[in-house]
Amino acid sequence: MKKIQMVDLQTQYEFIKDKVDNSVLEVMKNGTFINGPSVSEFQSNLESYLNVKHVIPCANGTDALQIALMSLELKPGDEIITSDFTFAATVEVIALLSLTPVLVDVDIDTFNIDCDKVVKAITSKTKAIIPVHLFGQVANMEKLMSIAKTHKLFLIEDNAQGIGSTYEFLNNTKVKSGAIGDIGTTSFFPSKNLGCFGDGGAIFTNDDDLAHTIRGIVNHGMYKRYHHDVVGVNSRLDSIQAAVLNTKLPLLDFYNERRKQASLFYSKRFESNQYLITPIVKGNCQSHVFHQYTLRVINGMRDALADYLSELKIPFGIYYPIPLHRQKAYIDIRYNENDFKTSNLMSEQVISLPMHSELEEDQIDFICEKINKFFKDQDS
Ligand SMILES: *Cc1c(COP(=O)(O)O)cnc(C)c1O
Repeated sequence: MKKIQMVDLQTQYEFIKDKVDNSVLEVMKNGTFINGPSVSEFQSNLESYLNVKHVIPCANGTDALQIALMSLELKPGDEIITSDFTFAATVEVIALLSLTPVLVDVDIDTFNIDCDKVVKAITSKTKAIIPVHLFGQVANMEKLMSIAKTHKLFLIEDNAQGIGSTYEFLNNTKVKSGAIGDIGTTSFFPSKNLGCFGDGGAIFTNDDDLAHTIRGIVNHGMYKRYHHDVVGVNSRLDSIQAAVLNTKLPLLDFYNERRKQASLFYSKRFESNQYLITPIVKGNCQSHVFHQYTLRVINGMRDALADYLSELKIPFGIYYPIPLHRQKAYIDIRYNENDFKTSNLMSEQVISLPMHSELEEDQIDFICEKINKFFKDQDS
């Protein structure tokens, strides 16, 4: 059996080595390191893949979120509703822009933002909602779109973990995640479902005006050379990273299919384990791309399981051990612990197992056998 890793970027590279080496070398030979042809090529490749009008590449997924918010002409103190159970980047950019983050609890089945709680959190200052498609599963966009429309709020999808998933609305229209709300953002961090060989990110929108605004913001607020109309940033996707992504984008559906197969193998082997809740897919089978395979340990033994896996050198991750409302940087006296029952519980129960497109069945067998044994030993 091959050594088990949380993600296996070396093996993934081996499979695409010739192609990706050539495309990176071409950038070096041509010296087109900044805004080279590979970047515009990637932009249009991704526009086609997502079926979205505009893709604006940028430096990373955190910048993508920040720039998305900057494009909406918000005022300090405007409130942005987002999930209490996500990576800190989502809330960080809200706070950085002097906007007010309003964290809300999540749905117990999907770990995604709880739509009823979103409605309750809306005030006259609310300007936008940022759902996160956590662990690869699209949030309830049917409800969120309707809430956003009713209350005239912007909807920004943090699609850093969900790229390639498809959401199906009740009227059967299917839209790729990130292309549903006003703006979508993603990250090409190496371990994401579509990763480059360093940092990278992108912003998506179907709105021509927002796209124009965003293109200026990523380039120092410049719409005409050396005319700076707004305060912008410098956020670019390197040509070398775009070259990597041009090689990998055609493989994204294959990668995601491999992840889905791995998730099915895992869940099958945990079927009769009464102490574990395996991932629940709410929409159709394309609505989850398994950025993570996350279990809930419901007998209070998550940390004991984690110690046991460490001993066996089986990698795992705890995403996330502390909900954002309890993080020092984001504590707010307005929050009440009773409003975060689910995110608090999830932070005690979740554990993510190795998940990537190169994971093999014998590795999954090994992991599951050990985990099932752990729980059986508790019983006896
Ligand atoms: C990875 C991630 C980000 C940030 O992406 P970077 O490219 O690392 O800046 C933002 N939101 C979520 C949900 C993420 O998983």
